[in-house]
Amino acid sequence: MRACVLTATGGGGLEHLQISDVPDAPLPQPGEVRVAIRAAALNHLDLFVMEGMPGGADRFPHIVGADGAGVAESIGPGVTAVRPGDRVMLNPGVSDYTCEFCRAGEHSLCVAYRLLGEHLPGTLAELVTVPAHNVAPIPALSPELTWAEAAAFSLVTLTAWRMVVTRAQLKAGETALVWGIGGGVSLAAMRIAKLLGARVIVTSSDDAKLAAVKQLGADLTLNHRTQKVAQEVRVLTNKRGVDVVVEHVGAATWDDSLRCLRRGGRLVTCGATSGPQVGLDLRRLFWHHWSILGSTMGNAAEYAEIVRRLGKGELRPIVDRVYPMAQVRDAYERLVKGEQLGKIVVEISKD
Ligand SMILES: [Zn+2]
Repeated sequence: MRACVLTATGGGGLEHLQISDVPDAPLPQPGEVRVAIRAAALNHLDLFVMEGMPGGADRFPHIVGADGAGVAESIGPGVTAVRPGDRVMLNPGVSDYTCEFCRAGEHSLCVAYRLLGEHLPGTLAELVTVPAHNVAPIPALSPELTWAEAAAFSLVTLTAWRMVVTRAQLKAGETALVWGIGGGVSLAAMRIAKLLGARVIVTSSDDAKLAAVKQLGADLTLNHRTQKVAQEVRVLTNKRGVDVVVEHVGAATWDDSLRCLRRGGRLVTCGATSGPQVGLDLRRLFWHHWSILGSTMGNAAEYAEIVRRLGKGELRPIVDRVYPMAQVRDAYERLVKGEQLGKIVVEISKD
C-alpha cells in the first residue's frame, strides 16, 4: 500500500518524510477493523513525532498521521459496531480497556495509552488496522460530511472538548481566553465555548485570521504580535481577568496566561509548542486560588458525546485546505509555518 512514512526522526525538518510502498496494514484480529483511508488530517503531534520524542516512533519506515476517515474494509471476529462498507472516522487514542484507569472510564489516562501515528502506524496510508473501539460511524448530515471534514474532526475536537467541558468546566456567561486561534485545538475550543454560551477572547498574530474567526463566533479578538494581551484582557474584563484560559503554547504565553486569569480562575493546557519549561510563583497560585489543569485527548464517553454533537449539526469541522497525497510535504510546510485556519487535510484515495 502507499503511505507517507518517516525513514528516521530528528533534523528539525521534513527531510525524512516520503511517500513509499509498504506492506499492507495487517488483516484485522478479533475486535479489530481495517479501514481503507480516504482522507487524513495533519496535527502538530506529527511534527513532534518527526523531531523525535521519548516513546515515539523508533521503527522505520514509520507511517505518520493520527486523524483519518474512510471505509471499513474488513472486520475481525466479534466486531458488531461496524460492518464492511460503513463510512467511519477514527479516534486516534488506543487504550487497553483493562487497566485501573480504563475500568474507571478514563481511557486517555490508560497506562498503555498509544496514539495512531506516534506509537502505532498512522493514518496517512491506504489502510490502517485499529481496535473497533476506535472506529465511529460518520453521522449522516445534510449536506453530507466530506471525507476531509470527517478526517478533520476527531483529535482536535476531542482534545478541546475535554479541556473546556470536562477539565475547565466552562459555564454559560463566563469568559474564556483562547490563544493562537489558527490551530485546530484552539478553533475547536472557541466553538465549544460558544456552544456552552460563554464569551470568548481569541488571539492570533494574523489580523486576517482574527477577522475570519469573528465570523465564526469569536466575541473579542487580540493580535498578540501588536497588542499586549494581558493588559488588553484586564481592560476587556474590567480588571477582573478571565474565568478560563485555554493554553497550548507553553513558555511563550504562560506568564501572560496567568496575568489574564481571575481570582479562582482555571488554566487548562494541552501543549507546549513554544517550550515546556515555565515559571510559577506558588504564592500567587494559592493566594488567587487558581486551578492549573493538564489535559490530553479524551475518554470513550467524551468521544461518543462529540460524535453525537456532530450528528446534531454542531462542531462541523473547519477544513483549511486539502492536498493530494503527492503534495504531502507542501501540506506539512503549511502546518509548520502556521498559515492555516482550520485543519489541513491530505486526500489518500478517491471513492
Ligand atoms: Zn488502560
